[in-house]
Parts: sequence; C-alpha cells; structure tokens
Amino acid sequence: DHLVNQIAAGEVVERPASALKEMLENSLDAGASKISVDLAQGGIKLIRVSDNGSGIAADDLTLALDRHATSKIACLDDLEQVATLGFRGEGLASVASVSRLTLVSRPQGEPHAHQIVAIDGTLHPVEPAAHPEGTSVEMVDLYFNTPARRKFLKSEATEYAHCAATFERIALAHPGVEMILRHNGKVVSRLPAQSLADRVGAILGRDFVDASLIIDSAAAGLSLRGLVASPTFSKASRDAQYFYVNGRFVRDKTAQHALRQAYRDVLHHERHPAYALFFTLDPAGVDVNVHPTKIEVRFRESQAIHQFLFHSVHKALAASAG
Ligand code: ADP
Ligand code: MG
Repeated sequence: DHLVNQIAAGEVVERPASALKEMLENSLDAGASKISVDLAQGGIKLIRVSDNGSGIAADDLTLALDRHATSKIACLDDLEQVATLGFRGEGLASVASVSRLTLVSRPQGEPHAHQIVAIDGTLHPVEPAAHPEGTSVEMVDLYFNTPARRKFLKSEATEYAHCAATFERIALAHPGVEMILRHNGKVVSRLPAQSLADRVGAILGRDFVDASLIIDSAAAGLSLRGLVASPTFSKASRDAQYFYVNGRFVRDKTAQHALRQAYRDVLHHERHPAYALFFTLDPAGVDVNVHPTKIEVRFRESQAIHQFLFHSVHKALAASAG
C-alpha cells in the first residue's frame, strides 16, 4: 500500500513546483489574503507556504493528510484510473508520502495552534504548536525516500524556475492577495494586494501593460477579460502567454491557435503574442480532468470557443490598428 501511495504521489508531485501548486491552491481555498512562500535549493530542500486563511481545527489535521483514496488505489490498474481522474482531495497526502511534511495551523478566532508531522507518509500525533491564525505547510527533502525519483529532478536552478513560474501563474490570477516569494532566504518577489493591471505589470512588466489592449468581451455564457499585447509591443514571446480558464492557468491549443490567428489576420505576420487572458464559461462546458496536473482542459464546444476567442481579440486588434 505504501509503495502504491508513493507511485501515485509521483504522478501528482512530479517536481517541487507541483507540490507548491497544491499548497498555494489550498491557501487560496482557505480564503487567505496574504501568502508567503519560502523555498530552499529550488524547492527540493524546502517549500514552506504560510497563509492567514481560515485554518484547520486540531481535530481535522490528521484528516487533511489522510489519503482518502487508499482503498481505491489497491492495485496498479486503479492507479491508471486515478491518473486520469485526477487526485481530488489528496494533494497534501501525496506530498506527505514523498517528503517530510509539517502542517501547523490555528483556525481564525482560536487561541492556540496545533501541528502534525508526517515523515515518509507516516503520521505522528497532533501536538500543540505556536502559529498565528492561518496555516503553514512545510515540505522538506522532496523524494528523500524515493532516490530513483530524486535522480530525475533537474538542477536547483531549473526546479526553482518551475516554482517561480507556478508562483507567477497563481499570483496573476489573484491580484487581491498579497504574495511574497523568497528563495534561499532572499526576497525574490513582493506583491502587495493590487489591481489586475498592476499585478500584470509586476509580473509581465510595466512596458507590456503600457503597450497592451484591454479585452472585455462576453457572449452566450462565455467571457474573456484581460490584456493582450498591442501590435507595437515587440517583446512578445511564448513565455508571456498566460491563459486562464475559470481562474486556473492552462495550456490550451484551441486558445493558442485562435489568438495566433487573430494576430496573423490583423498584422499579416507570424508572431507569438503576449497576453494575460481570463476566459470563463459554464464549468459543465469544460473537462478539467484530462491531465493529472489539470494544465490541459477539453472544451465540449471547442469550435464555438475558438470563434469567440478569435473574434474577441481580433476586434480589439483591428480597432487599435485603425
Ligand atoms: P483538497 O484541497 O483537494 O481538499 P488537499 O490534500 O490539498 O485536498 O488538502 C486536504 C485538506 O486539508 C483540504 O480540504 C483542507 O480542508 C485542508 N487544508 C490544506 N491546506 C490548507 C490551508 N492552507 N488552509 C486551510 N485548510 C487547509
Ligand atoms: Mg488541495
């Protein structure tokens, strides 16, 4: 069972950045207005995420690290199914099974904090601890118990870059949340609660914002808001393409294609446009469980969505091109 858990965890905790994503999403789910992230050695040695969210009651700490699906994942066949369905409700348990994890929390309005330590997936008893209202999750030594997986981790610099990208993707979608990122003790990014335009400026650069067009378009239950680079913005690159579906960062071929085509149509040349776009639709119209990390989605009406995205951006570009 233990082995199966570790294999399953490997699917979702592919690298430090995957653990960071789980932790940040939990802090946001808990309604945090301030989140700080501490990394050491690219996140391989340490990832600590602290928030001022709702917190976890002492009685629920064990539950938070419980792998709800243990009975579900009894054999390798089941593993495959879990990989396709996603790991709902077991992000933290997965991280705990491949690291040393400490979860410390104090619910809002409670006088005391409690903590639980999990080493190698084994839970230690809940104990009193010191912590302000909110929660800290500390993951130390990713893959210390699975050396084969540890070998597949890239350099500290590469793993750090993935963590920083994860931090930025989430920060961009939550401009109202104060966020701080430190690496090896140094502050790398300090983002106050701010407007979307200011958050985009802090992450993609003020020059991008100054040279961007505002997209704000809605039709038939679909909406697209955000910023796209104006035709004159030259630093367009693949790296500056942020596309969100119902608040989550995704890589989507339909969207990429529609946007590239809008640019090509108006500007008559190939380029990779820079953008930060937030697309929303009825959740029933999108399958988010086609990839274990949910970075890809499948639209039920991809044709209609392609058209909507194309027209929304095309209209703005054509207007600015005069
Ligand atoms: P999920 O987020 O899918 O419910 P997780 O394994 O990521 O599963 O987290 C398990 C549970 O632990 C959450 O449902 C939540 O109740 C609790 N939890 C985890 N992190 C936090 C946090 N930062 N603040 C409050 N509760 C948390
Ligand atoms: Mg979670």
